[in-house]
Amino acid sequence: MFFSFMTRYIFVTGGVMSGIGKGIATSSMGAILQGYGFNVTAIKIDPYINVDAGTMNPVEHGEVFVTEDGVECDQDIGNYERFLDKNIYSDNYMTTGRVYQAVISRERNLGYHGRCVEVIPHIPDEVIGRIKKAAKKTKADFVLIEIGGTVGEYQNLLFLEAGRMMRLKHPKEVLFVLVSYLPVPDIIGEMKTKPTQHAVRMLNSAGIQPDIIIARSKYPLDEPRKRKISLFCNIEKEDVISAPDIESIYEVPLNFERDNLGRRILKKLNLRSRKKGKGMKPWIDLIEKIHNPEGKVKIGIVGKYFDTGNFTLADSYISVIEAIKHACWFFKKEPELYWLSSEKYEKNFKSLNELKKLNGIIVPGGFGSRGVEGKIKTIEFVRKNKIPFLGLCYGMQLAVIEFARNVCGLKGAHTTEIDRNTKYPVIDVLPEQKINIRKKNYGATMRLGAYSCKLFKDTKSYEAYKKINISERHRHRYELNNDFREILEKNGLVTAGINPERNLVEIVELKNHPFFVGTQFHPEFKSRPLNPHPLFKAFVKACIKK
Ligand code: GLN
Repeated sequence: MFFSFMTRYIFVTGGVMSGIGKGIATSSMGAILQGYGFNVTAIKIDPYINVDAGTMNPVEHGEVFVTEDGVECDQDIGNYERFLDKNIYSDNYMTTGRVYQAVISRERNLGYHGRCVEVIPHIPDEVIGRIKKAAKKTKADFVLIEIGGTVGEYQNLLFLEAGRMMRLKHPKEVLFVLVSYLPVPDIIGEMKTKPTQHAVRMLNSAGIQPDIIIARSKYPLDEPRKRKISLFCNIEKEDVISAPDIESIYEVPLNFERDNLGRRILKKLNLRSRKKGKGMKPWIDLIEKIHNPEGKVKIGIVGKYFDTGNFTLADSYISVIEAIKHACWFFKKEPELYWLSSEKYEKNFKSLNELKKLNGIIVPGGFGSRGVEGKIKTIEFVRKNKIPFLGLCYGMQLAVIEFARNVCGLKGAHTTEIDRNTKYPVIDVLPEQKINIRKKNYGATMRLGAYSCKLFKDTKSYEAYKKINISERHRHRYELNNDFREILEKNGLVTAGINPERNLVEIVELKNHPFFVGTQFHPEFKSRPLNPHPLFKAFVKACIKK
């Protein structure tokens, strides 16, 4: 058989323009289908040549998300995990580069038995093979496949072709959803459907007719607009789903359900609700909390990936931002986020005083030297002023450097990432990483994915997790240098968790401070709206107290 018996496949494509929330739409569709009692997984296809997102600048591409099994991927995988409240593994992520790499190396290994290997059909075949593999591994009833970019782009075609081929073979098991944008130009003051009509034509020319159109716009769709799209795009009116801008992305599943998206999908695929899930109740409860907060929590994120021209890209830190929100909502608080540029504090130390107005500070992950001294200054300030602090990866490393310099008296202590000849390399690379750096072997060679961590009792971290053995996701090359552990600990830096296999420090903390915790791993990748992360909860709790 071509694919496993019950699995249904829904391809999600984008029309008119990108960045209109296709990932959120896909995730929300998944949450709805889960609500009907189905097992859902989601796949992201990125049409670029990069083999993964690991080498990309976050300002250009947004955050690099990391899976349990250590793939550096698109942030939409993070959206799927947050909405579906489950782990998504590397099989569910493809790029053009990844697909070609696999086909080429199979060819080199005589895997095509001497035949001529062609773009068509071998590339779409490889894509279909990967989709099937993900379906089988996850035993999913539904596989949602989001094709990045927009229809009509040259890069998109081979993936659409894979979808077309699947639909041809299994017409009753494959659906196409188009997420399209309906602009409301100021000078016209009216919602325009024409770009969506063109997007459908474009999809048609790839041999695909959408079954459902999710109509993204500033406002809800009115009846005339729905009728127009129905008539000109060749779909039933009931299959035009209104998707206006709303305050919280987590309201999107409920919003789609107002237009019966779930039931329309089931009807088309001849399925009935299994009604064994909790339905949409958990989402309804969450939205209730979001809309009725009891006070605010002001949290600052000190970073450097915020400025791109006139736009501030919160995208670079999306998992951190979402994790803060999840924890705040858990305590029925409204998060108020402040994006603080570390470079500003470098130029003007006095401006650090503005941090006193905040309830807590996060220094997130990062790379390279820009803004580093500003972050170190920030950490010194929050340490001395007892402002709750959470350092994530680079944030933890810089906290160690600050402590070494200012408390242990190791003047000039640094990470060898920035100062290779520092007298006190308190943060340094592992020997195997030295080879990678020398050979410029940068792609997918960091310490990536889930590693275990053992917590020590009588620490804030243990108090937060309430267990000894935890596992968290990593993405870094440098580590706390164990040669300095003794002097750091003697001066009061607490090692709260280690990786038992390699004796690497995973968490540092301070006593006599309301909350000062730095983690070598990235807890933010595992926070979910319906399941906030314990460490973020502990941090926010301390922030509320301040
Ligand atoms: N640049 C640091 C390292 O490679 C931290 C990385 C991060 O924050 N993700 O170890």
